Amino acid sequence: MRSKVLGAVLAAVMVTMAGQAAAKPKWAIVVHGGAGVIERDDLTPEQDKAYREAMARVANVGAEVLKKGGSALDAIEASVKILEDDPLFNAGRGAVFTAEGRNELDASIMDGKTLKAGAVAGVTRTRHPISLARAVMEKSGHVMLIGEGAERFSLSQKLDQVDPAYFFTERRWQALEKALKAQGLPIPPRPKGAPSVPELRADLQHDEGEYRAGLAQVEKKFGTVGVVALDANGNVAAGTSTGGTTAKRWGRVGDAPIIGAGTYASNNSCAVSATGTGEYFIRLTVAREICALVEHKGVSLQTAADQVIQKDLTALGGDGGVIAVAPNGEMAWSFNTSGMYRARVADGAPLTVGIYKDDP
Ligand code: ASP
Repeated sequence: MRSKVLGAVLAAVMVTMAGQAAAKPKWAIVVHGGAGVIERDDLTPEQDKAYREAMARVANVGAEVLKKGGSALDAIEASVKILEDDPLFNAGRGAVFTAEGRNELDASIMDGKTLKAGAVAGVTRTRHPISLARAVMEKSGHVMLIGEGAERFSLSQKLDQVDPAYFFTERRWQALEKALKAQGLPIPPRPKGAPSVPELRADLQHDEGEYRAGLAQVEKKFGTVGVVALDANGNVAAGTSTGGTTAKRWGRVGDAPIIGAGTYASNNSCAVSATGTGEYFIRLTVAREICALVEHKGVSLQTAADQVIQKDLTALGGDGGVIAVAPNGEMAWSFNTSGMYRARVADGAPLTVGIYKDDP
């Protein structure tokens, strides 16, 4: 009798395990478009819709790459490039300005299979900094390039070059002016090639999108972008791209291009992309810390992300969030701000899109 019961229990356990094995997604992708003070009342219905659509579109583009057997790195590069082109986000076109009135872009990418990584900081002419970070990883023999040298390497790789004015958006300029005024700092001249104010007014009649995105609601949202992915070969990777923080000074670089802080990936644990006030993320090596908890303590991905964001980051007075994916298909996000633009989808799991804390 006892052995019959035991047999039945064992069979049930095996069925459950088989079920779980079958349920492990072949691929998964999580994207973010920045965390910050984003309350329901801050966004008009149109803005809310525009951000949700952008997140959904980008997750779906990455998912298509993964479904076709593409690598996690390819999915990340393809989806981050779209966000870098979208003026809604603080990356590529739409990046925030330095106190000197420049767009200085940072990005990084990491391959969880090989632990290879590439990063760039302070670039001003490369249309897609994520592609430059990938080229650094794959072709430079180095991990991180900055400023002028990074620009020269970008040229040598024949990456898409743009005039710095390409990155200009009026909403970010207004946010800069506001931040500089608040700090009592001088307002630099508008960048060469940026539309003059009267030109812009005429423009806005055609470009309602940018206007809708809101001159009023910008300065408290960060808007960095990041993607983490698991591919059908079981490899994870992470990528992050940003303009940094509004009115940054003296060549300031945040966490986004710092491997281990804003970005990390290892097939032994997980892949993480962060967004928030970079100074705190660097000091806590947030991305690596989450992966280390998974690897060494064996905790779930969500537990590790919550530990670092809700406890450690919060205790230090930092603000922001992360997205993460593990080789077993677990996906997680955690943020201690009121919102984070985000989406996730996996083989067998439907697309989920969120902005506010109480979104699913
Ligand atoms: N983490 C970025 C930085 O500090 C900014 C952000 O995520 O909004 O540069």
